[in-house]
Amino acid sequence: MSASELSMSLEEDYPEIREQVARLCADFPGDYWRDLEKQPPSGSYPTAFIEALTESGYLAALIPEEFGGAGLPIRGGAVILETLNRMGCSAAAGHAQMYTMGTILRHGSVQQKAHFLPKIASGELRLQAFGVTEPTTGSDTTQIKTKAEKTGDGYVINGQKVWTSRAQHSDLMLLLARTTPADQVEKKTHGISTFLIDLNEAQKNGCTITPIDAMINHNTCEVFFDNVPIPASALIGEEGRGFRYILDGMNAERCLTAAEAIGSGRYFIEKSVNYANERVVFNRPIGQNQGIQFPIAQGHAELEAADLMVRKACAMFDAGLPCGGEANMARLLAAEASWKCAEACFSAHGGFAFAREYDIERKWRETRLSRTAPISTNLILGYVGQHILGMPKSY
Ligand SMILES: Cc1cc2nc3c(=O)[nH]c(=O)nc-3n(C[C@H](O)[C@H](O)[C@H](O)COP(=O)(O)OP(=O)(O)OC[C@H]3O[C@@H](n4cnc5c(N)ncnc54)[C@H](O)[C@@H]3O)c2cc1C
Repeated sequence: MSASELSMSLEEDYPEIREQVARLCADFPGDYWRDLEKQPPSGSYPTAFIEALTESGYLAALIPEEFGGAGLPIRGGAVILETLNRMGCSAAAGHAQMYTMGTILRHGSVQQKAHFLPKIASGELRLQAFGVTEPTTGSDTTQIKTKAEKTGDGYVINGQKVWTSRAQHSDLMLLLARTTPADQVEKKTHGISTFLIDLNEAQKNGCTITPIDAMINHNTCEVFFDNVPIPASALIGEEGRGFRYILDGMNAERCLTAAEAIGSGRYFIEKSVNYANERVVFNRPIGQNQGIQFPIAQGHAELEAADLMVRKACAMFDAGLPCGGEANMARLLAAEASWKCAEACFSAHGGFAFAREYDIERKWRETRLSRTAPISTNLILGYVGQHILGMPKSY
């Protein structure tokens, strides 16, 4: 099938999944999330929420049925994450499991798939940690310094990762490390490998995980590797091709996190409209003022447009078509639109937006992240400029 033959069904929208996920979310209202945020250093993990998602099979939605998952297309996973955020929950607490497992599925050996995927699907093993970013290396992944050196029966890891979210709540970590020094490879994308690490074992053997005090409850950490031995069986696919494997997974990540941003935007629009209709100032509802109404309407319109791009990217992904451009643009547009909705909601609520019990400041802080991680909007614009529009590489 070519991209021009692709037809997108706007009706197939998984209404049952939306309804069931929304019902699950009702058990995790605003005060559940607010209480978690009170734990030092910057919040504690929503364990009960993640357990409920795991038991209901939502985190295994994209794992094929033969490995114990639901075998849904990516659009199904996107709908789940969108609904979680639309209901005021935090999809980010569990989303990595949906896309990191794709690396095992696509590039793992028969044994790795048979061993790990059913355990991830059942929740016996949590794969929530994805170690790419380092203190000196964010956007330019090829510059990572963490290295994996070959030993007799495996590798030994040295280096440091930063912003590794959920590392303290994950049994496994997908780790990107250099196996050949950068000055010994033809292209800087070569010589990087992907490993699936047993974090519980690693922490007994030189790996230390320290939480970062951050502005949102993302359970994000620094991870130090000091001569950590790992078995040869931890390598995914071929040594030196890890950068390519990670890139392969990016489109899924972009589609899923874009859907999350759509969910956040819808959360803000609903809150904004309710408040704008209800709050009376100068003897009339504030929603009657164009200064309040129009930013909400603008945010809604942009969100709907971004949602179409998310649907297109998912449809192309599910049809097996190359969709780097669409997935990136979906991510960009959804992040920007949801941020616009967040800002409109914040303004509409006046001083009450600052009161924690309204949950707006919490979701507003969370939503700002979409413009920075997992990829910053600048880097997406650079991708669009170069790969879609054919301008010189800007990064
Ligand atoms: C809460 C949180 C959770 C995270 N979770 C994870 C995780 O689980 N795993 C993980 O590996 N990482 C994670 N990250 C890291 C995240 O992916 C990086 O922060 C992000 O990729 C940007 O990298 P950086 O912060 O090093 O910014 P830098 O690469 O240092 O860039 C700084 C700024 O400069 C801009 N910039 C750089 N070069 C250019 C250019 N050529 N043109 C235009 N602009 C440019 C960037 O867009 C950015 O705005 C997380 C980050 C946060 C904040």
